[in-house]
Amino acid sequence: MRLYVNDVAVRDGFQIEKEFIPTAIKVEVINQLSRTGLHKIEVTSFVSPKAVPALADANEVLAGIERVPGVVYVALVPNVRGAQNAAATARKPDEVNAVISASETHNRANINRTHEQSLAELPTMVKVAHEARMKITMSLSTTFGCPFEGHVREESVLEFVERFRDAGIDGISLADTTGMANPRQVRELTAKVLAKYPPPDETYYTLHFHNTRGMGLANVVAGIEAGVRSFDGSISGLGGCPFAPGATGNICTEDMVNMLEDMGYDTRVDLAKLLAVSRRIPSVVGHETPGQVMKAGQTLELHEVPQGLKT
Ligand code: ZN
Repeated sequence: MRLYVNDVAVRDGFQIEKEFIPTAIKVEVINQLSRTGLHKIEVTSFVSPKAVPALADANEVLAGIERVPGVVYVALVPNVRGAQNAAATARKPDEVNAVISASETHNRANINRTHEQSLAELPTMVKVAHEARMKITMSLSTTFGCPFEGHVREESVLEFVERFRDAGIDGISLADTTGMANPRQVRELTAKVLAKYPPPDETYYTLHFHNTRGMGLANVVAGIEAGVRSFDGSISGLGGCPFAPGATGNICTEDMVNMLEDMGYDTRVDLAKLLAVSRRIPSVVGHETPGQVMKAGQTLELHEVPQGLKT
């Protein structure tokens, strides 16, 4: 079965690093990632440089990267202004990803808007993106739980999905922003979403997990069982959310690919190439990262038989 793997490290990961990562390094990492077989790469964000100084170089990053055919280059846009800036940049992203939180409190903390304000902007954002020949996807943050409000009602998740579809959104990402999802919940909720609003294509729905409480990869398996085929990860396990307390790394892309390939799924990702990029990341960010396969090696990277056992 074909599965689609997206990487968000350069956006979701680099955005919380304290030290500014030079544009040239970001471009290099993206260029390397472009050759690993990933489906999408989220390369930057058109947010206010005051709110997220780490991504103030969105225009330069988009201008500097090589575009490998078949790879979808994505930029996050928090509002109409962000979509307009993405549309106006010299080398536009293929796709913009807008965000709204299923929880009202997190929406206000993250993008400083009420639900009604966010939803009211949606048609304009779709228009701005489509006129600039960019696709627009919608991330529903805190789908599986909110660090301020706790449980999120399933009905409200379904209502958001309906509003997004009505607005002409090209894809929907259900995001577990602070790692509160568990596999049973993922399987039940995503199965309901897919049953009520069947996807027009295999990549219409994406699941975006953080491994905050160690349930990330189990949630991926639950998502596959529910019928989702597209998953976000972050190389080296980087990531977090500057506006959600306690948010830690995304699920690690290469750990996910290693698991999926071992399970017999076809990700089209070259794991060895991906690991080569991941192993660079600790030196890029200046600290250890949570990725496990980068330390342990691929499952079938066998070790030499101990001397005494050799015949
Ligand atoms: Zn995230």
